[in-house]
Amino acid sequence: MPDDGPLGPEVLTGWGGAVRSAGTLHHPTAADVARRLGAAGPRGLIARGLGRSYGDPALNAGGDVLAPLPTAIGPLAGDGTVEVSAGTSLHDLVRFLLPRGRFVPVTPGTRYVTVGGALACDVHGKSHHRSGSFGDQVVSVDLVLPDGTARTVTPETDAELYWATVGGMGLTGVITGARLRTVPVETAYLDTTTRRLGDLDAVLAEMVASDDDYAYSVAWIDTDARGSSLGRAVLSRGDHATRDQLSGRSAADPLAVPGPPRVTVPFVPPVGLVTRPAVRAFNELWFHKAPRLRTGELQTISQFFHPLDGVAHWNRLYGPRGFVQYQLVVPEHRDDVVRSVLEQVSRDRHPTFLTVLKRFGPGNPGWLSFPTAGWTLALDFPARRDLAPMLDRFDEEVVAAGGRVYLAKDARLRPELLPAMYPRLADFRELRDRLDPERRLQSDLARRLSL
Ligand SMILES: Cc1cc2nc3c(=O)[nH]c(=O)nc-3n(C[C@H](O)[C@H](O)[C@H](O)COP(=O)(O)OP(=O)(O)OC[C@H]3O[C@@H](n4cnc5c(N)ncnc54)[C@H](O)[C@@H]3O)c2cc1C
Repeated sequence: MPDDGPLGPEVLTGWGGAVRSAGTLHHPTAADVARRLGAAGPRGLIARGLGRSYGDPALNAGGDVLAPLPTAIGPLAGDGTVEVSAGTSLHDLVRFLLPRGRFVPVTPGTRYVTVGGALACDVHGKSHHRSGSFGDQVVSVDLVLPDGTARTVTPETDAELYWATVGGMGLTGVITGARLRTVPVETAYLDTTTRRLGDLDAVLAEMVASDDDYAYSVAWIDTDARGSSLGRAVLSRGDHATRDQLSGRSAADPLAVPGPPRVTVPFVPPVGLVTRPAVRAFNELWFHKAPRLRTGELQTISQFFHPLDGVAHWNRLYGPRGFVQYQLVVPEHRDDVVRSVLEQVSRDRHPTFLTVLKRFGPGNPGWLSFPTAGWTLALDFPARRDLAPMLDRFDEEVVAAGGRVYLAKDARLRPELLPAMYPRLADFRELRDRLDPERRLQSDLARRLSL
């Protein structure tokens, strides 16, 4: 839709629904972006993708918010790279690539994110130990700087701006497009291995011993388990299946593209449905439903990477108060922090519907990029009053261990902890002073953390 003028401020939320603010939403074309930046008022402007970051990075109270640019993909170049507009979703990109025998090297737990949002948060997936994060798979980025200048930035020609933009939460410029690397695949299926493990030690040991044997790996943790079962998990790993592994229906259409969500949560129920008894029953069922060991099971891309995408607007199930996702990373030798967090969650009986553990490979040079080598734990909590003191305690433990929390999920971190978590923060602030002295780019996150 062209930028024919907004009707006025509207209330926007992060995906968790626990934070909201009113900004004026514009629907730009690529040509409008520089003009919009020039016209930004004292509260500035921020680009927004599909609003899948949980907290406040894509919100701008009292300012302007740019909706995603229209989808534009291709053609696929002979070297497997593809040019896309920043507003293209990974869902559309995967549907373009699969029939051509290609796939994205890095996908987060949902396909409903834009390329601009994936770059600005430098998102990671289950392949981080092998493929790094989104910014590692990009050839070049088209950026409109705060002064309206358009630039194509690469890690080779403009390393400083490139690595400030990857993970830069939309604050170095508006991304309008990118050239991305893709990987060859023979099928749209994953050859998976599922393993049920009885406690945290077993999970950590198994991941250290053999994650590197698989392209993708993630553990779902039962946060209700305590005592000797603390951290029990279902570890799920996989590789792209080859054609000769398929039979029957899958062999008839080996590169079948994933479809849209099958079910929709039509409205926000007045009371959250993610309650402790419901979560407890789910956790119990999920753990015991998993096999002790199952190898060679074929799963679709949706089943393996994006199970939540089957239900549109599933975040509404948390009710009007919404929910918070907390994601930390700590170095590999500090698995005691993972244990401590799980102990506190289980002791205080916080209902966490979804808790996942991954083992990151080395991080990239992104100044505010989240992944660094070690353990990353992500937990979803319904928003409750007693959550803040516990998460503040977790922050302290994470900082003391040399770790950090993920800004794409955050809406509550105390600003004084940020410099220890992100050692290139001072460089980032200095670059912003140079690039954007008038602060045309602003967001609720940027103001809260003085980014
Ligand atoms: C179910 C679910 C699973 C998830 N799993 C993972 C996961 O496994 N790994 C992971 O890393 N993340 C994960 N996430 C988080 C999600 O991948 C990121 O928050 C992602 O960046 C959201 O993309 P978006 O297009 O919705 O961007 P938004 O949430 O709308 O915006 C995110 C940031 O990107 C910036 N931005 C957006 N477009 C542009 C642009 N054109 N130019 C400049 N800046 C821009 C915004 O300003 C904002 O700072 C998950 C989220 C959900 C809901």
